[in-house]
Amino acid sequence: MTVRTRFAPSPTGHLHVGGARTALFSWLYARKHGGQFILRIEDTDLERSTEASVNAIFEGMSWLGLTYDEGPFYQTHRLTRYKEIVAQLIEQGDAYHCYCSKESLNEMREKQRANKEKPRYDGRCRHLKDQQEGIDAVVRFKNPTEGVVTVKDNIKGEVTFQNAELDDLIIARSDGSPTYNLTVVVDDMDMELTHVIRGDDHLNNSPRQINIFKALNSDVPIFSHVPMILGADGGRLSKRHGAVSVMTYRDEGYLPEALLNYLVRLGWSHGDQEIFSLDEMIEFFDITDVNKAASSFNTDKLLWLNQHYIKTSSPEHIVDHLIWHMEQQDIDLAEGPALLDVVKLQQERVKTLVEMAANSLFFYRAAKSYEKKAAKKNLTTQSAELLADMLLRLSALPEWKTAPIHDEIESCSVDNEVGMGKVAQPIRVAVTGTTISPPLDATLELLGRERTLGAITQAIDWIASNEPE
Ligand code: GLU
Repeated sequence: MTVRTRFAPSPTGHLHVGGARTALFSWLYARKHGGQFILRIEDTDLERSTEASVNAIFEGMSWLGLTYDEGPFYQTHRLTRYKEIVAQLIEQGDAYHCYCSKESLNEMREKQRANKEKPRYDGRCRHLKDQQEGIDAVVRFKNPTEGVVTVKDNIKGEVTFQNAELDDLIIARSDGSPTYNLTVVVDDMDMELTHVIRGDDHLNNSPRQINIFKALNSDVPIFSHVPMILGADGGRLSKRHGAVSVMTYRDEGYLPEALLNYLVRLGWSHGDQEIFSLDEMIEFFDITDVNKAASSFNTDKLLWLNQHYIKTSSPEHIVDHLIWHMEQQDIDLAEGPALLDVVKLQQERVKTLVEMAANSLFFYRAAKSYEKKAAKKNLTTQSAELLADMLLRLSALPEWKTAPIHDEIESCSVDNEVGMGKVAQPIRVAVTGTTISPPLDATLELLGRERTLGAITQAIDWIASNEPE
């Protein structure tokens, strides 16, 4: 048997991290077993589905690197097929037209409530022999009335439902459009899916779907219902807990591998290992090891993983992702050093790419202003003299390299009988506008002589014009 899994999002919003984790689990399962992973867009809810959401799904999947082998399949392209199956189910006696009006259904439910019964469709149209013309009819699936249906679930174990608890669900609306439980079954059957991995909010749909699979004489896939993700307060993870959309993590400076690593560990573990390369995930992941209980999202841990991946990835890889962040800024990358060299200086020192981009802007444009506190402490009349001294020294330096730059800072501090910091920190503020930078000597080498001297001159002028009266 070739393993075939799928991710079947409804395009009604962003790609949520919960959806991304389900996609990752399905993807890993297929990859682990040398199978296929399929993307299916469940867009039959025309009112809520948007093209922007479809694109957000593609963008998120592609950013995460969750490649699919087949698809994307769109349910709206398969409406004829669903109609065909509805007709087949009616024909074979497993579905029927229901003519009940809204009013009569409401009345029925009210009576049931009054009798302390669970409100459900009582099957009153089940036995009608002839089709009634001129009345809008829905089509209902004839659910077995007796016995049980057991969902064999790789995470939850066996979950058994009484058929008597499941009423005859609508599989086609009066306008002929199919409903979710029908389209999912037809697609999972036609696409020959062997494993259905999805959120556990769908667990209650599974017995109904299994009954439809059986009516269609189809194999029933093996289910895995993944527990939901909670926010730190124990509520279901939602916007009020912060970012929930995958692309927001990109925007906030996370690397995709950090998010993948974080998501794979959310509800799954392999000993006490925390860091997993993709290959290791594929090797060690098993859907049967996913926890039954919901897990909580912990942003600090994600940040820790992100820092790890920024530190340990190849600078080239970081450049590939940093470029997008630099492009969000009003700078010209041609105006400064190669981004690769900047990354090499910065990658040990930041937790996110947003931080790396912000701390690297000075390489591409002169500081427009100085941070107030930094300037007050470091751009003083006393430091203007040291800056002027350094200006002469650096202009005369035969070789613009880290080591001689370092030596000049050191000899300036010795000659002027001040600590190194008294010389270095004003230069740092002059160059970056802040007190944050990689080691100053290497920073200046990368920045280049001309820009360094320009920044120091600008700072000396600034001190002169801001001198207290
Ligand atoms: N389209 C459904 C959703 O986004 C998923 C259906 C399924 O996985 O069976 O919740």
